[in-house]
Order: sequence, then C-alpha cells, then structure tokens
Amino acid sequence: MSKSWRPATQLVHGGTTRSHHGETSEAIFLTQGFVYETSEAAEARFKGETDGFIYARYGSPTNDMFEKRMCMLEGAEDARATASGMAAVSAAILCQLKAGDHIVAARALFGSCRWVVETLAPKYGIECTLIDGRDLSNWEKAVRKTTKVFFLESPTNPTLEVIDIAGVAKLANQIGAKVVVDNVFATPLFQKPLELGAHVVVYSATKHIDGQGRCLGGVVLSDKQWIDENLHDYFRHTGPAMSPFNAWTLLKGIETLPLRVKQQTENAAKIADFLAASSKVARVIYPGRKDHPQADIIARQMKGGSTLVCFELKGGKEAAFRLQNALEVVRISNNLGDAKSLITHPATTTHKNLTDEARAELGISAGTVRLSAGIEDAEDLIADFEQALSRVSA
Ligand SMILES: *Cc1c(COP(=O)(O)O)cnc(C)c1O
Repeated sequence: MSKSWRPATQLVHGGTTRSHHGETSEAIFLTQGFVYETSEAAEARFKGETDGFIYARYGSPTNDMFEKRMCMLEGAEDARATASGMAAVSAAILCQLKAGDHIVAARALFGSCRWVVETLAPKYGIECTLIDGRDLSNWEKAVRKTTKVFFLESPTNPTLEVIDIAGVAKLANQIGAKVVVDNVFATPLFQKPLELGAHVVVYSATKHIDGQGRCLGGVVLSDKQWIDENLHDYFRHTGPAMSPFNAWTLLKGIETLPLRVKQQTENAAKIADFLAASSKVARVIYPGRKDHPQADIIARQMKGGSTLVCFELKGGKEAAFRLQNALEVVRISNNLGDAKSLITHPATTTHKNLTDEARAELGISAGTVRLSAGIEDAEDLIADFEQALSRVSA
C-alpha cells in the first residue's frame, strides 16, 4: 500500500487484504470469533504480542479494511468503525471524559450531537457550555480549569456556518484540551481537520461515504496514542462496533466517493447560483459562493464548496412547503449526502425540537430550506426548481 496514493486511488485499493481465494472485491466476514492453532498462540494474541483478531466486537477483517481505508483518506493513524454516526460521536466524546470535566461545544450541532453534550453528558456529571462557535473569543471565554474537550461541526447543519478549526485547535493546545470535529458536512475530501490541528475526527458514514441510502455507519479517527489511551477499551467493552455487512457496503460506497461528491458539489453550486437570482429567495448560503459571510475562512480551510445549499424563501413556511411539494426530481427527506437530491424544512423536521429562540440563534427561520444536491443532471435539477418556484407566490 502506498501512502503517496492520491485519494481516488486510495479509495479503491487502500486497506484491501485478500483471503486465500484472491477475490477481486473485498470479502465480507460476518463471522464472530477466531480460532488459534495452539494455547500459546491464544495467549500471545491476548497479550497483544501477535497481530490478529480476537472477537468481532473488538475488530474483524472487513471492518479492518474499512478502517484502514478511512485512515489513508483522512491521514489518521488509527480508527474505529461504529454502527452509526451517533455511536461514533458519543464514543469519541464520552470515552475521554469523566465526572467533573467540562466540554465547550459550538451550539450549531446536528440535533442528536447536541443532545449528547447538552442532555446526556450532564447526567454523568460532565458539564457543557454551548457557544456561538464562529467567534473564536467565545471559545476562550467559555474555558474553565476543567475543560477537556472542544466539540464542533463545520460547516454546520443546516445554515452552513463555518468555524475556524485551526483557531480552535490552537486554543485547545494552550489548555491541553482535545478538539473533536464532526466532519460530515465537509466530507473527508474537502476538509482535513487533523491537518488543521484537531485531535479527533468523526463521521456519519451513513451520509456521503455510503451516499446511496443503504446502511448506517460511523467512524472515529485519531492518532494511535489517543485511540489506545481513550477509545480502545471503551470501544471493546461498550460494543458500538459496525456490522461487517455495513463495512462491506461502505467499502463499495467509498470507491465512488470522489466521483459522487464532485458531481454533487457542482450541482449544488449551480443550484445555489440559480436560487440566488430568484426574486422569491431572500438569501442563499453556500460555502462555494463569494457572498458566504465567512468566505475567508472557507478559502483557508476547505478545498471545495459543499454538497449542501441552505436558502431562505421570502414567503416563509407556506412558500417552503409549496416549493417542496411541487418538486418532482428532488425528494423530501431529512437525509443528506445521497446520490438522490433531497430537501428538508429544518424548522418542522430536523430542528423542530429546539425552542424558537434557539432556532433564531442558528439562523433558522420559517422560510429556511436545506437542499442536499444529488448526482442527477444539473439541468434537470434546475428545471425542477424553476417549475416549483413558479408555484410559490412572491
Ligand atoms: C447524520 C449526522 C450524524 C449522525 O449520524 P447517524 O449515522 O445518523 O447516526 C452526526 N452528525 C452529522 C453532522 C450528521 O449529519
């Protein structure tokens, strides 16, 4: 395996180990346990003196290929594949904290992530302060003697706000805290949190990595020392392991990740420009556009725009519902990163559990709509928006 391979090559070949049959595609090992030739071999395996698998909850051949391929893509030393993105997020946060510790998190978080830090962690005596993560001084102000983890998502869901990851990492290093980045919206192709100084990266592999609506998955990536000291035992003994069938599906998904993300991003950029020119749209937020409020940070830390577009209709909820209902190619769904274009109205779906005030803080209004661009022909998508917008009153 060559470390110098570029992503498109790594994603097809990275981490592959073949069985004695020499199969072309990665094999699925749905199996549970492993046998040892001798008692001594079992003892050595348990002591960690020899490489090899012990039990599928700890690690298994197909999952190992997925983890290795993700490590190559991310530039990480080690990884653990989890059953879902939320299993990855909760493991990454909880494995390194104890009662009395403190988390600082950006308040613009995926709903379940916000629940983990705001509601679950305090039940175990871990305190959490939520801040507007766009302003670096807010991170500094929230720091306490007990702060151990900074947690953020960038770009955020759904309003595509951006956080200066290198700035947050610098502050974390000054106080000995770890930065955990949920990199789902950026994808591993467009943003490299570890290179920017973050310590741990998490993904919902359900999104772009599968990208075809088939299965759930997640992954936590970091340096070997952090995994050994924090995640290793937590992962073995709490059991969030990914199903090998899902690891196999995701290995297939990851082969086409660069093709899909490229097409989705090109489509998103074209739709963003089209929407920005519409008299029915109040504003468009798209990381690839020059009018994004944080275009300077995006230019520094991201290699591409986004597969997502956030926009606000002048006509509020009524206009948003009319638009969504009139679309024919684009389907209504709260999922994202898929080959199919998907649209959702955050205020009544993904963000309905927040208070009106919390939604306003995040810039989510009654007219806010989030589009996840698929890989369809851009002209068909634009024609779909054109006909649907014509049915929305100005
Ligand atoms: C979907 C998502 C998650 C959770 O992932 P699941 O695979 O659904 O558990 C976490 N963070 C972000 C940003 C997501 O989009």
